[in-house]
Amino acid sequence: EVEAIVQPRSDEKDVLCNIAVLEGAPPLSEYWTLLDTNDAVFNAARTAQAATIIFTVAQNAQIEQLATYIHTLRRQRGSALKIVVRESTASLRATDERLLLGCGANIVVPWNAPLSRCLTLIESVQRQVFNRHVPEDIATLLSMTQPLKLRGFQKWDVFCEAVHNMMTNPLLPADGRGVMVALRPAPGLRVEQAVTLCRPNRTGDIMTIGENRLVLFLSFCRINDLDTALNHIFPLPTGDVFSNRMVWFEDKQITSEILQMQAVKPERWTTPLPITTGPETVMNVEHDGRSWRRIPEPIRLAETHGEHAS
Ligand code: C2E
Ligand code: C2E
Repeated sequence: EVEAIVQPRSDEKDVLCNIAVLEGAPPLSEYWTLLDTNDAVFNAARTAQAATIIFTVAQNAQIEQLATYIHTLRRQRGSALKIVVRESTASLRATDERLLLGCGANIVVPWNAPLSRCLTLIESVQRQVFNRHVPEDIATLLSMTQPLKLRGFQKWDVFCEAVHNMMTNPLLPADGRGVMVALRPAPGLRVEQAVTLCRPNRTGDIMTIGENRLVLFLSFCRINDLDTALNHIFPLPTGDVFSNRMVWFEDKQITSEILQMQAVKPERWTTPLPITTGPETVMNVEHDGRSWRRIPEPIRLAETHGEHAS
């Protein structure tokens, strides 16, 4: 028989699998070993050569440990091992997925793939030989998941410098480093007022103001997700607050826009209102004899400066 000529590695058919992956189903064959934890899967895999190793991930706190396991196995056990990660609940960002693949996983199965699809994907990596390069030091891979430690409002020059650094960092994926958006406030609204509505939550999301526009950089956001991200960041639809927007998402475009921004003189940078920069203070409170109560106070957005929305 032809089959007999090819000498398979002895453990090629073995599957070492976290029990959670099968959602209560029994082992699919005598080759399957179910283990209670990722730690146990890792330990069992340390002597494997060509087996299929299946981890699970349920929350983002597990990512770093898992990355270390995958990196160790791939570096020490070689390219015939088939390493699979199944996401059991939505917990991976695109950057996390890249990290796991960069550490040597063959495939990451997303949480919304049902078990049958997951099993088909596991079949699809059988006999696959891993041939991407895995750096010796995992720190290189970990550092690329959150290269920007800044969040929120930055002075114009700090903003430009930070985005420039993202664009020139060789470890980050080309044309996948983020999206930059410039927004011009609707008539009657000043840019320093508009920026008070801009509340980025995610580390790596930064903005600045100048030349009557608000410029935002969203780390690792892809152009197709821009509206999702803006909806997280602004409490109001951006179309109501801004009359015009420009978007850059390729490295080349972003870099050239940043160069132009760096040429803008400091007198054209806009200073934010004190409430944007100062610590949060509790305003208008009074003690009514039993407890503290806030006293509502009317405010208007366009003050004194002669600009009126008609
Ligand atoms: P989603 O909320 O539907 O966001 C889809 C994609 O839009 C994200 O993919 C990301 O590229 C972009 N995006 C959304 N919001 C922001 C933002 O505030 N800043 C930036 N820079 N980009 C944003 P990603 O990162 O792969 O995340 C996939 C999904 O994972 C998200 O879908 C969300 O459901 C979940 N997720 C990711 N990070 C967090 C988190 O910190 N907390 C929570 N609760 N969920 C998260
Ligand atoms: P962070 O990246 O600075 O995000 C801070 C908060 O921004 C998150 O708090 C969440 O409320 C919001 N946020 C950021 N991105 C998204 C998004 O895509 N969708 C939604 N719906 N919300 C978003 P949270 O969830 O309590 O997370 C706190 C920190 O935990 C995050 O700080 C991040 O360092 C880490 N984290 C959370 N989820 C993930 C994840 O899926 N992958 C990674 N690598 N880290 C995560």
